[in-house]
Amino acid sequence: MKQGKIVIITAPSGSGKTTLVKRLLAEYPALAFSVSACTRKPRVGEVDGKDYHFYTVEAFQQLIAEDAFVEWEMVYEGKYYGTLKSEMTRIWNEGKTPLVDIDVQGALDIQRQYPHNSLSIFIQAPSIEELRKRLVLRSTETPETLEERISKATYELTFAPQFNTIIVNDNLDAAATELKETVNRFLLA
Ligand code: ADP
Ligand code: 5GP
Repeated sequence: MKQGKIVIITAPSGSGKTTLVKRLLAEYPALAFSVSACTRKPRVGEVDGKDYHFYTVEAFQQLIAEDAFVEWEMVYEGKYYGTLKSEMTRIWNEGKTPLVDIDVQGALDIQRQYPHNSLSIFIQAPSIEELRKRLVLRSTETPETLEERISKATYELTFAPQFNTIIVNDNLDAAATELKETVNRFLLA
């Protein structure tokens, strides 16, 4: 596989990662979003093949058996997510840099596999209380999945020091600027 650089962005759910990633991609055409595979149901407005490749559990397990993934995780109970090798290759072959937006364990996994050509960024909400508030306002969670995400977030925060850079997403504009400058330095190096 012809390898280029990789930008890895991770965060506990609700930190603002998707919001920041969308802004970064809009301003940075040299980056291309690596579309993950997953087995959760699409949210309103999500498009198959653009936000995720949505699969049944059986189809996802078949891809695991075919060694189609750079990494995969059961991020939430019964819900698989994985980075497809074919996505990375497609993006490198286009002369672009893949941006992978993945959970903390998946991010550590990719960082371990590509220590010399990856930049890993951990996005952090200012506090767990603020993160809870954001998830409630986003209105995508049931009371059970909200608690599952909060409890996972508390655990994931302990891994923050293992990433190359931590960006605290308090003021959105300031965090977006910091993210862009960090990626810029990596891509120009
Ligand atoms: P993630 O992808 O990390 O789960 P999202 O990007 O979906 O997070 O953001 C969670 C919610 O918080 C969204 O409703 C988003 O609009 C909001 N949000 C993102 N960044 C900020 C910020 N800096 N201040 C306040 N709300 C924010
Ligand atoms: P959501 O269900 O909110 O879209 O995503 C839940 C979590 O799964 C997020 O932290 C997201 O970054 C992560 N995720 C998305 N794609 C992948 C992937 O390919 N691999 C891993 N390990 N996590 C992923």
